[in-house]
Amino acid sequence: MIKSFEYVAPKTVEEALSLLSQYKEEAKIIAGGQSLLVVMKQGLLATEYLIDVKGLSTLDYINYDEGKGLRIGALTTHRAIEKSEVIQKHFGVLSEMERNLATIQTRNWGTIGGNLCHGDPAGDPAPVFIALKAKLKLASLGGERIIDVEEFSRDYLEVALEPGEMLVEIQVPTPPPHTGTAYEKLMVMKGDMGIVGAVVSITLSPGDSVCQNARIALSNVSSVPLRAREAEKRLIGKALNDGLLTEAGEVAAEEAEPPEDVHGSAKYRREMVKVFVKRAATKALERAKAA
Ligand SMILES: Cc1cc2nc3c(=O)[nH]c(=O)nc-3n(C[C@H](O)[C@H](O)[C@H](O)COP(=O)(O)OP(=O)(O)OC[C@H]3O[C@@H](n4cnc5c(N)ncnc54)[C@H](O)[C@@H]3O)c2cc1C
Repeated sequence: MIKSFEYVAPKTVEEALSLLSQYKEEAKIIAGGQSLLVVMKQGLLATEYLIDVKGLSTLDYINYDEGKGLRIGALTTHRAIEKSEVIQKHFGVLSEMERNLATIQTRNWGTIGGNLCHGDPAGDPAPVFIALKAKLKLASLGGERIIDVEEFSRDYLEVALEPGEMLVEIQVPTPPPHTGTAYEKLMVMKGDMGIVGAVVSITLSPGDSVCQNARIALSNVSSVPLRAREAEKRLIGKALNDGLLTEAGEVAAEEAEPPEDVHGSAKYRREMVKVFVKRAATKALERAKAA
């Protein structure tokens, strides 16, 4: 049963920040409630004040500028990201990821900011944003700060938000030329949380298939979204071939610290990391060659 709380619905971001500053640890933000209400109903979280930010339309936007890159407001829904033409054109991997995230109903109401702030290591967006070198803008009454998305997750369901802070924007730089990125997720059924997920981003030197840069990130194989740095090193500076992509998958599997649950043992998840990193890397390489 949900413990009783006081509900407040600020009309502006400033008002929301002022309430957060006033109530600090006693308050919790609710956006779409798709994750928050689950943990409240399970009795894992109780709060004195629920601050409903879903109506703050100034944080619901997708802007793109080649120089500045992509800017997504924290209250943008998954469905808006999936359907955005500018995202489909310049950041195809984001729409690809969104198409397999939950059901249309959840994507219509759940927000990208809520997903990241929930801090679920099985979530799909965080590893994709890590591969895309995204940053997060956090705001409080005292001002704003920018943090690498990679440093945002601290532990299972724990993120680097200070009391009084909220996530307001996700910033994604325009990828360098000859870059391809792909996300592959193992699901029992389309739209399920991933048993494992792998995203690979590859940048090639112009005119050949030497890997100038690579980023590999994994979901649901650790208490946080995991960047597989050793696996990346197997690709960087090399003329890529099938054998190297297989090797990257094997190294990523060694870096993983997978959980055991009803969906799979740690051993099974490690095997799947090999398969899904290889699949994502193969697709990313094809895309980089075509870019
Ligand atoms: C049936 C179902 C299937 C799902 N499948 C998937 C899936 O396949 N992949 C996947 O990645 N996710 C999945 N999810 C999770 C879903 O994507 C998230 O629940 C949703 O995106 C969270 O957004 P929300 O707006 O509902 O956040 P809320 O539930 O409102 O909030 C979540 C957390 O973030 C905090 N918060 C929200 N917004 C902010 C903000 N701007 N600043 C600071 N803190 C904030 C809240 O306080 C809370 O702690 C699924 C959920 C459901 C219900």
